[in-house]
Amino acid sequence: ARQEGAGRARLFDAALGRAQRRRQQLLDALRSGAFDDAFRIVYQPKFSAVGRQLCGFEALARWQSASLGAVSPDEFIPLAEECGAIVPLGRWLLDRVCAQLRAWLDRGLAAEPVAVNVSVGQVANGDFLAAVEDALRRWRLPPELLQVEITESLLMQDLHSGSALAHALTGRGIEVHLDDFGTGYSSLAYLWELPVSALKLDRRFTLGLGAQPQARAIVDSVVALARALGKKVIAEGVETEDQARILLELGCDVLQGYLLARPMTAAAAALLLPGAAPS
Ligand code: C2E
Ligand code: CA
Ligand code: CA
Ligand code: CA
Repeated sequence: ARQEGAGRARLFDAALGRAQRRRQQLLDALRSGAFDDAFRIVYQPKFSAVGRQLCGFEALARWQSASLGAVSPDEFIPLAEECGAIVPLGRWLLDRVCAQLRAWLDRGLAAEPVAVNVSVGQVANGDFLAAVEDALRRWRLPPELLQVEITESLLMQDLHSGSALAHALTGRGIEVHLDDFGTGYSSLAYLWELPVSALKLDRRFTLGLGAQPQARAIVDSVVALARALGKKVIAEGVETEDQARILLELGCDVLQGYLLARPMTAAAAALLLPGAAPS
C-alpha cells in the first residue's frame, strides 16, 4: 500500500510539473513581447439570421505553441491579466486585426466589420481607446470596420470606466456589443442608458434551446428587451439547425457558431468576402 501511495505521489508530481512548465512557457511567451512568434488570430464569421448573409467576424486569439499546439484564450488571457502583458498583447491584437482589414481593402474585397474582445485589464490599466484610435489611424480604416465586445460582467465590475469607454467608442463610430449577455446580472434600467448596439446572448442560452423551455423564454424576453431599446441580438454558440431555426423564429438578428462556421485563418475568411477573386 505504501508503494502504491508513492506511485500516486510520483504521478501527481509529474502532472504538477507539467502544469507548471506549461504555465511557465505561457508566461515566457507573454512577457517576451514577441507576440508575432507565439500568437495568431483566427476569425469566426457571423451571419444574418434571415438569409444567412455574412455580416462580420469576431477576432479570437490563439497561443500557438510548438509543444502544446493551439491554446485557448480562456487559459492565457487570465495569465496575461495577471502578469500585465494584457495591455501590450491587446495592442498587438488590435494592430494585427486592423492590418488584416487594410490588406482586405487593398485587395479590393468588401471587408466586413471585425469585432475584438476587450478584457478588464485593458480597460483598467491601458489606454484602450488610444490604442484603438492609433490602430485605425495607422491602417487608415473607417471606424465602422472595427467593433468592440465588452462582457456584461466586465461592465458591471467597473461600471464607471466601462460605460465611459462605451460612450467614447460609440462617439467615434465604433459599435460596442455586450458580450456574454444574460450572465452578468446587469440592471435593466442601466442597459437603457448604455450606448451598446447589440446584446450578444451567452452561449448557454443557445445550448438550452430545444431542451429547456426556460432558455426559450429567456431568449424571447431578451429579444423583446433589445427591440424596445433599439439594439440587435447576436446569438453565439449555434451548433444545430434546430437552434438556428428557433433563434430565427424568436427574432435574433445575427447567428454565430460551429453550425455556420468555425473560427478560421484570415486567408480562409477572405474567401468569404464578396469581391474575392480566385488567386
Ligand atoms: P467569447 O468572446 O465568448 O468567444 C466565444 C468562444 O466560443 C470562442 O472560444 C469560440 O471559439 C467559441 N465558439 C464559437 N462558436 C462555438 C460553438 O458553436 N460552440 C462552442 N462550444 N464554442 C464556440 P475561444 O476562442 O476559446 O475564446 C474564449 C474566450 O476568450 C472568448 O470568449 C473571449 O472572452 C476571450 N478572448 C478570445 N480572444 C480574445 C482577445 O483577443 N482578447 C481578449 N481580451 N479576450 C479574448
Ligand atoms: Ca454587410
Ligand atoms: Ca466575444
Ligand atoms: Ca461570448
